[in-house]
Amino acid sequence: MDLKKSIIGSSIAFVIATSCCWLPALLIAVGGGSTMVAFSNGLGKLSWFFGGIGIGFLGYGIYQYKKKQKMSSSAIVILQSIITCPKCGHKKEETMPTDACQYFYECAQCKQVLKPTGNDCCVYCSYGTVACPPIQLNEDCC
Ligand SMILES: [Zn+2]
Repeated sequence: MDLKKSIIGSSIAFVIATSCCWLPALLIAVGGGSTMVAFSNGLGKLSWFFGGIGIGFLGYGIYQYKKKQKMSSSAIVILQSIITCPKCGHKKEETMPTDACQYFYECAQCKQVLKPTGNDCCVYCSYGTVACPPIQLNEDCC
């Protein structure tokens, strides 16, 4: 096992998959890692076997990742949400990211760092006028 190359491969794959949901990232990481190991190790016939599995995982992971990106960009969602600070009542309009959830938010006035309340996935669901894009699309949040 060339562990070092495998770790590097997985890390690069993980960086590529900066999606907030873990499944595509995991698939890409596993796929990328095993592909690198297979082709750098010279396992003979076995390397094609592992390489095939690796590429399969990698392809599926990227497919899932792209599908998710496409869904969030093609559907009509409201990206402007007005966050009201629970501490000082300061209101500020913010643009929500479509590909990730925002867990922390610093109030521009009192510098209080807000976190989601209860089962909410992000600060926009807890303090904003509009829920975050995944919730608007009826998707599970991250
Ligand atoms: Zn505040």
